[in-house]
Amino acid sequence: MSKVRVRFAPSPTGFLHIGSLRTVLFNYLIAKKENGPSAGSGQGKLILRIEDTDQKREVKGAVESLIEVLDWLGLKFDEGPNLGGKFGPYIQSQRLEIYKKYAAEALKKGGAYYCFCSPERLEKMRSDQQGNGEPPHYDRTCRDLSEKEVKRRLDAGEKVVLRQKMPLSGVVKVKDELRGEIEFKAADLEDHVLIKSDGMPTYQFASVVDDHLMEISHVLRGEEWIPSFPKNILLYKAFNWTPPKFIHMPLTLNKEGGKLSKRQGDVAVEDYRAKGYLPEALLNFSVLLGWSPYTENVSGQSQSEILSLGEMIKKFEIKDLRTSGAVFDIEKLDYFNGYYIRQKNLDELAELCRPYLVKQWEKKGERFVKNVIRLEQERLKKLSDINEATEFFFADRLKYEPKLLIWKKLSAKEVKKNLEEVYEQLEKIPEGNWTNDSIEDALMSYIKAREVKVGDYLWPMRVALTGRQASPGPFDVAEVLGKPESLKRIKFAISLL
Ligand code: GLU
Repeated sequence: MSKVRVRFAPSPTGFLHIGSLRTVLFNYLIAKKENGPSAGSGQGKLILRIEDTDQKREVKGAVESLIEVLDWLGLKFDEGPNLGGKFGPYIQSQRLEIYKKYAAEALKKGGAYYCFCSPERLEKMRSDQQGNGEPPHYDRTCRDLSEKEVKRRLDAGEKVVLRQKMPLSGVVKVKDELRGEIEFKAADLEDHVLIKSDGMPTYQFASVVDDHLMEISHVLRGEEWIPSFPKNILLYKAFNWTPPKFIHMPLTLNKEGGKLSKRQGDVAVEDYRAKGYLPEALLNFSVLLGWSPYTENVSGQSQSEILSLGEMIKKFEIKDLRTSGAVFDIEKLDYFNGYYIRQKNLDELAELCRPYLVKQWEKKGERFVKNVIRLEQERLKKLSDINEATEFFFADRLKYEPKLLIWKKLSAKEVKKNLEEVYEQLEKIPEGNWTNDSIEDALMSYIKAREVKVGDYLWPMRVALTGRQASPGPFDVAEVLGKPESLKRIKFAISLL
């Protein structure tokens, strides 16, 4: 079996696009599958390569933050700018000498040619083409310049780019591992730029050279690169290299079927992290955007979609990747996140919530904060919600509409009386015995003995303690608040009625 080597090749734009999470994850799974116990003998390697040749798009510190967020996700790479490896450097802007060498080779082998057309000329050409209703494309003016002329213009120091020499007729057939064979008409393929006038390679050139030199076995990338696919394959041919296998992943779409865009919400993994989404949830959510571990339709049987990284590795097969568009459904992400939050033990969860509760932590101390978190764990969808969800525990004075205290058809007077009775019962519980069980026992036996309705007492009590329509149960809240604070809050509620 040949060696599996895959790469994740982001451009350092300053953040990791949420859609790229899938690309990096699938690459990871392809690599780790090879290492897995049930797999073949290959040693799959995952490589991080930074594609920063478009210097206009470069953002300072972007590489470091990218590495940091990948690390946070728990996806371990084998080679990369921070890890080294024998195929480095892994940052394209540090590989310019390599591209120069291969540009010369492409020229020599007839796969490329020099083009001296000025930006002004190209601009005019394009607008003329558009005026004639043609799609803009390079008109190949420089394709057949004589060697002599090329030399003269190079010697004269004219600005020059390198273009790929495309076939003029026929079809170009390429094979995608998921989609099968795809045909392109040669006439539709432009002689696009491989090396820009500033000496920088384009994606088309650098990625092919690097994938070859880094011995990449599978290129897994977004389907927006399908139009480049024939160009890439032709370049491999020009060099006489064997291309890797290609897999193009469908785009992740928003619910309306459009592209995920910044305007519509968060697109950066970093944003989701800041909101308190856990790596496990982001990975589990992402893996199902384009892959399903269940190839057969097992109707009537509910299959768990909860998958740890280990389970993904075990179940992952390239052939199960899907080519249809995947919809980014935030509610589903919330569902996964809630699930993984519930799996944490209290200490872990408290640590995770800490950044969102810094002041509260200072004010009330670790024990109190942990007790609060314990009560919210069940309902928490993302860590950042903890602040709003638990505000009432830390408030010196609750703010709420007094009418919230009123249960169903009770009058304010009745509610007041009920709260006074609750107060009396609670007051009797010794502080040392202030637990949710003893509070429950005391109140429930009182309610039972008097044959009154539970809601008539517990609703106003809960609102008095929380100021909210929805919250954890009144006994739990009372326990966490402690006896003096609980009584204080009930007294306050009585004063409002
Ligand atoms: N730098 C390209 C991107 O960020 C990589 C595409 C590829 O994986 O080849 O989209």
